[in-house]
Amino acid sequence: MRKVKIIFIYKTLKLLYTIIQYLYICKKTKSVRRQIPITTFGMPVLRKKTKAVTKIDTRLINLVENMFYTMDKAAGIGLAAPQINLDISLAVVDISGYEKNNKEKPMVLINPEILGSHGEVEMEEGCLSIPEIRADVTRPGKIFLKYHDFDLNEVTVELNGFISRVIQHEIDHLNGKLFIDYLPEEKKKEIKKQLAKIKKGKVITDYPLLIHSGD
Ligand SMILES: [Zn+2]
Repeated sequence: MRKVKIIFIYKTLKLLYTIIQYLYICKKTKSVRRQIPITTFGMPVLRKKTKAVTKIDTRLINLVENMFYTMDKAAGIGLAAPQINLDISLAVVDISGYEKNNKEKPMVLINPEILGSHGEVEMEEGCLSIPEIRADVTRPGKIFLKYHDFDLNEVTVELNGFISRVIQHEIDHLNGKLFIDYLPEEKKKEIKKQLAKIKKGKVITDYPLLIHSGD
């Protein structure tokens, strides 16, 4: 009788151990970041105006974490929601690793909007959604930016320099605009063939791409 009892306790403990282990694995898997394929030139979502974010929940927070992870894996400095096939007004920016001693903190931009701008600066740009193409783009140097934080509070800030440049590029994404739209006709003609190739996915990147399957 005593032996049966011991076996019963042993089996119960073993079962409990298995359950705990299972729960632990579930928790771990849930917290693992996911690298999301990046939408490539030609995907309709890249030409859509995005919708405002109205609710901050766990799903959105998770999404932001995955966006930072995806951007980092692709060695990017900015990533907008349309670039992961979502038409919502959300973007992440992190230029801390781009320049030495850069102290700019990573930013999450919810419903960002440029209220005003000043000056004119020419700088070379590229885009994770348009691999291999780089070109000079003229944009305002200083911007007055409005966006929402994680409590959906409105934040306004004045920005200059490289961070201002990256944010302008990302806000364009949220309005269906791409940096190649700014190029002079001559340059547009020059990259036409290359764009057609990118659209078909005939491009090599070290991050996964999402290609438009239509024409
Ligand atoms: Zn871009």
